[in-house]
Amino acid sequence: MPLIAPDDLHRFIVAAFQAGGSEPAEAELIADHLVAANLAGHDSHGVGMLPDYAENLLNGFLFANRHARIVTDSGAVLGIDGQRGFGQVIAKEAMDLGIRRAREQGACVVALRNSHHIGRIGHWSEQCAAAGMASVHFVNVTDHPPLVSTWGGAEPRLGTNPFSACFPGEDGPLALLDMATSKVAFGKVRVAHNKRTQVVEGALLDGHGRATTDPDVMFEAPRGALRPFGEHKGSGLAVMCELFAGVLTGGATIHPDHGHDGGIINSMFSIIVQPTVLVPRERLHEESEKVATYVKGSRPSEGHDEPLMPGEPERRNARQRREEGIPVDPNTWAGAVAAARKLGLDGERLDALVAHI
Ligand code: NAD
Repeated sequence: MPLIAPDDLHRFIVAAFQAGGSEPAEAELIADHLVAANLAGHDSHGVGMLPDYAENLLNGFLFANRHARIVTDSGAVLGIDGQRGFGQVIAKEAMDLGIRRAREQGACVVALRNSHHIGRIGHWSEQCAAAGMASVHFVNVTDHPPLVSTWGGAEPRLGTNPFSACFPGEDGPLALLDMATSKVAFGKVRVAHNKRTQVVEGALLDGHGRATTDPDVMFEAPRGALRPFGEHKGSGLAVMCELFAGVLTGGATIHPDHGHDGGIINSMFSIIVQPTVLVPRERLHEESEKVATYVKGSRPSEGHDEPLMPGEPERRNARQRREEGIPVDPNTWAGAVAAARKLGLDGERLDALVAHI
């Protein structure tokens, strides 16, 4: 697969969104986020998002140069409206506000609603960890038809509602869990459909509520459903994401009353805690590192090389991809270039950027 240097990819994305009307600082934040997702190995949330973002911008589902607007401030709780702005700006500003407040008060709840796609949720956990904060994030996805069934249900009733939690180490996250609550991401089902391969067992239902590994069920009528991870437990967490992120933020939920226009709107309920309010700094790191060493020190089970901490696979991917480049398949690259053109990046400027890549 063709490899693209992270800096070249970053330059291309910045140019594309500036052509689409974003201020330079906004285009930089979007590029930072998409390239970081590719570096982490989550290609479903990297440069491959360009076509969706371009389409939503041009169709009025997403607006350039908007900022996080505080709508509620009770001290410990901040309510923020994202005004359908770029999630890469809105979520960053929301976390900045929450971190500042958690420094003053020990903790802060940030209830962010109505942001365009905030991408890889781990990015926001990492922002909190870089400031020394522990954090938990519940997210829902709206403006989009439901894709995921609940445990026991035969039809889609939820989005892929991601959840993230992060425990800070001395230098960035010690542990970072960041995942969709569906067993597999929808992007992986689309890839299997295109390649005519099967999806892992337990990940899909057909349109009649029967378990299947055939990805085509998501592209025909009656449409099937992704299944939640972890049976009733993952299903329960997905429902909690809907309630905390959709209802408690005052944002939209997946209920059909809110419509499914075709954009990608995320709301996120975050709890940000200054850990040293509860535990002295030295003990915090000493004890958490002891836990990490103990957890990782287990003998590997059959089929595994070693036990890993959550967040470790992404750190390893990033190290490798920073050195070797980011693999971008030709279809994804063609889609990104076409999207850049739609945003107005054209002529010699586009040719020069693409020729360099
Ligand atoms: P995934 O299935 O790859 O799971 C990722 C989590 O599992 C990470 O915390 C990772 O460190 C951990 N992990 C993976 N392998 C491990 C191992 N061997 N040992 C220990 N831990 C391990 O991720 P996913 O569910 O496909 O989600 C991918 C991305 O999609 C996430 O970044 C998520 O935030 C994002 N997402 C975003 C939205 C949105 O609407 N913005 C919706 C869904 C998902």
